[in-house]
Amino acid sequence: MTKLKLVVALVIAGILGLQSPSIAKDLSKTQMKKDQSNHNIKKETTMNAPNKFEFQPLPYAYDALEPFIDKLTVEIHYSKHHKAYYDNFINAIKGAEMESMGIKDIFKSISKYPMAARNNSGGYFNHTFYWESMKAHGGGLPTGKLSEAITKTFSSFEEFKKQFSDAGKTRFGSGWAWLCLDDNGSLFICSTPNQDNPLMDIAEKKGIPLLTMDVWEHAYYLKYQNKRPDYVEAFWNFVNWDEVAKRYESALK
Ligand code: MN
Repeated sequence: MTKLKLVVALVIAGILGLQSPSIAKDLSKTQMKKDQSNHNIKKETTMNAPNKFEFQPLPYAYDALEPFIDKLTVEIHYSKHHKAYYDNFINAIKGAEMESMGIKDIFKSISKYPMAARNNSGGYFNHTFYWESMKAHGGGLPTGKLSEAITKTFSSFEEFKKQFSDAGKTRFGSGWAWLCLDDNGSLFICSTPNQDNPLMDIAEKKGIPLLTMDVWEHAYYLKYQNKRPDYVEAFWNFVNWDEVAKRYESALK
């Protein structure tokens, strides 16, 4: 067979889908591996990859955080408030350079963009981060390296809890309490107003967020009314420490 004939035969075989079963099997294995690794990459970089702004599903059912937060509050908070921030964020970046940037890069230069981009990018990111900071039957104590770092920084877990709770209780108006990692690898607690977060260039103290608590009234008003401190105290029974530890270890790298 001449070289040309061989090429023509291979092309025809390709068109007809004539692959040997073993090659097909190998190819599908390779594809599966590729899909799997793409999935992992996607999962890790979703929030910072261009054009990857998705409205992530709530990681649990609306009633999963009962009795800490009631089902209706979670439903309204996620499907109305969070969704509105997401929709408004997508609208705010339409046709702007932000559309092709990762969210963390947007935050790094948020001061140069319109207020609608600042409020809604924050509202979008912070809520995703908040939902993932909690889980049903969470709470307990942090473990491993994170536990050591908390004790080292705040002298005890109880003292850390107190300082974080105070950051939430004393935030005037609406905002967020955060545990973060700074540039020197040290933990710190802070709070931000409105939908700002510590990744933004306008933050009083910048850092990598590890844990957050939403202290907007919409996060607790149906069940707790004006009693924000009661909501803050209940929060500790639902913290997803595994997730916080994972964030800490990946922030250290
Ligand atoms: Mn909220």
